[in-house]
Amino acid sequence: MNIILIGLPGAGKGTQAEKISEKYNIPHISTGDMFRLAIKNETDLGKEAKAFMDKGELVPDEVTVGIVQERLQEEDCNHGFLLDGFPRTLAQAEELQVLLSNMNRHVDYALHIDVPKDQLIERLTGRRICPTCGATYHDLFNPPKVEGHCDRENAELIQREDDQEETVKKRLSVNLKQTKPILDFYEERGTLVTVDGVQEIDKVFEDIQKKLG
Ligand code: ADP
Ligand code: AMP
Repeated sequence: MNIILIGLPGAGKGTQAEKISEKYNIPHISTGDMFRLAIKNETDLGKEAKAFMDKGELVPDEVTVGIVQERLQEEDCNHGFLLDGFPRTLAQAEELQVLLSNMNRHVDYALHIDVPKDQLIERLTGRRICPTCGATYHDLFNPPKVEGHCDRENAELIQREDDQEETVKKRLSVNLKQTKPILDFYEERGTLVTVDGVQEIDKVFEDIQKKLG
């Protein structure tokens, strides 16, 4: 199954992606995670992406499409993939369509996690992540068993640099503009499914499973 996840920052894409990836046995490909890894490893890609990410802006399409194209050609994607955070612009959606059709493949589901923007600042500023395994928590909505520590790794949780309030506001305004045309793009192609993201995490996942069958 080839799935893309659409939703504003903080909608719960990464949280649900972990569950979908495990249940449907498809690799979770997050462009944000790929950029953060490149930054950590101080690669050229990381240096280029960091300048945009720090400002809450999108990394240019040609860079982002390039890393996705390479990743989709890896063997673990042969039986499906779950793209999280890509496409994020109409141009990326169009490019993805071309590169998949060149591989004789297509998007089965464009899964939209719908959360009104006024709830997202609280979700993003309270988000904490595990620097070791990438698991996502929230101070109030999804706290770890031991305060400040990952359930799996026991590592100390950290806040993403771009989850500071000012950058969060910028990211939301950038993404608000880009999301509607992408929803229309997949609606026109009959692959858009929407779930209500303003529910308990497990309830959102139940609804996703019903939609994916
Ligand atoms: P995204 O990948 O879309 O940016 P995340 O999955 O990282 O979003 O979730 C953003 C924050 O909101 C995290 O702190 C996460 O724990 C929390 N969160 C995710 N889903 C829900 C939900 N259904 N209700 C409340 N908080 C949620
Ligand atoms: P995320 O982890 O999905 O919240 O993404 C974090 C940041 O990475 C974004 O604010 C962008 O700067 C960058 N990014 C991730 N995915 C994309 C994309 N598809 N296009 C452009 N920039 C992206």
